[in-house]
Amino acid sequence: MHVQFWGAARTVTGSMHLLMVGEQRILLDCGLYQGNRREAFERNRDFPFAGSEIDAVILSHAHIDHSGNLPTLVRNKFAGRIFCTNVTRELAALLLLDSASIQETDNDYLNRKREQLGKEPLPPLYTTDDVVRTMRMFHSLGFDQWFDVVPGVRCRFHVAGHMLGAAIVELELSEGGRRVRLVFSGDLGRPARPLLRDPDSVAEADFLIMEGTYGDRTHPDEDNCDEVLVRLIERAQRLRGKLVIPAFSVGRTQEIVYRLGGLSQSGRLKPIKIFVDSPMAVDATTIFRANMDALDEEFQRRLLADPDGDPFYFNNLYYVRKAEHSKKLNELTEPCVIISASGMCESGRVVHHLRNTIENPDNTILFSGYQAPNTTGRHILDGNPTVRLFGETFRVRAKIEKLESVSGHADQGELIEWAGRVCQHGQVQRIALVHCEMEPATVLNTKLREVGLPEVIIPDRGQILPLTKLDR
Ligand SMILES: [Zn+2]
Repeated sequence: MHVQFWGAARTVTGSMHLLMVGEQRILLDCGLYQGNRREAFERNRDFPFAGSEIDAVILSHAHIDHSGNLPTLVRNKFAGRIFCTNVTRELAALLLLDSASIQETDNDYLNRKREQLGKEPLPPLYTTDDVVRTMRMFHSLGFDQWFDVVPGVRCRFHVAGHMLGAAIVELELSEGGRRVRLVFSGDLGRPARPLLRDPDSVAEADFLIMEGTYGDRTHPDEDNCDEVLVRLIERAQRLRGKLVIPAFSVGRTQEIVYRLGGLSQSGRLKPIKIFVDSPMAVDATTIFRANMDALDEEFQRRLLADPDGDPFYFNNLYYVRKAEHSKKLNELTEPCVIISASGMCESGRVVHHLRNTIENPDNTILFSGYQAPNTTGRHILDGNPTVRLFGETFRVRAKIEKLESVSGHADQGELIEWAGRVCQHGQVQRIALVHCEMEPATVLNTKLREVGLPEVIIPDRGQILPLTKLDR
């Protein structure tokens, strides 16, 4: 038996690892590769195997770089089951439908360009119909229970604390009387995060596939998030301006709403209207609310303290679903907070809000997450004096701020500590570092070796790790 690394190998995108046990082929994740448009399209379309050769998929969590290429796999004749946690299934439906509509819109744009050049139109990577077919193949389970994936492969999900429903995947593999335990961290979260439970420990493994996104970094202390929110809201009230917060619809939006709810209830915020303007965020909030047991103890305590209350609802908070209501926000003249997607300002309603607010120095744009290179969000955050929105140039006169370190990924110390617990009984023979660029991987490799953890590989795309247990 072996595992072959086909994605998130020396990069942070397109998570996909092929596990071979006897005659069975199992994919761990089937993520969308994101990058240069043409290269990404071809790489996502052309799998290094036929979909029909894959017997099952195990999905660690719903983020698109882990789940987003499942519909293409189904288009490529995959006919097995997709195993994941119950919450991941719900969030994946939301995120995959959104991804399909982005694929369709992007493709229309490209085909218009092709038409001008006299070229034939191309089909999109996948459509909403493909997503509907994909969702039928999902088979979801709770945490902490063993289940059979295919003959010779058993699996159990543990809380990863990275996003709602995210799992650490523990596998027990049997082939010809040999038994191997493999642990795949998925994306690993951080201890003591708001809303989410802390990552679970897994105490036994022979091989460990671990993410290393921030293998070379220590996250700054984020205790001041609440203070920043209070300070910026007070300033908006004083200047009678708007505070626009671009935020991802799933996760970051709920975290900010949760913080604002706490501040509002404790009386630290003077009343101000807060709008969550993103249809997907409204749906995601419903999923969060329906999965209280997956959230952390503090959240449950807050709920129990006020059984009639709802941490995602409080006075002056409004969820906006309809486009016409979203447009009405432009006419508001009183100070307010608008939380809207997309998080990097590449698309979605937040772009309209930027257009309406960015030229007024009384307004503030508060970035709440990572801004990738070449995105509109990064362009603004880098301090450029102008920005292009809907093909027009706007002067950046609003105040630009950012919330430090609201990362969903463990940092170097947290990764080492977690790996140390998996390796505590000394059985782990090899660690494969995935989901990281070469530089953080190299730094993390050195650190892991320094604390006496086993041999580490940083697999390249297509590389094979044999899962052969050494006799001791
Ligand atoms: Zn993730």
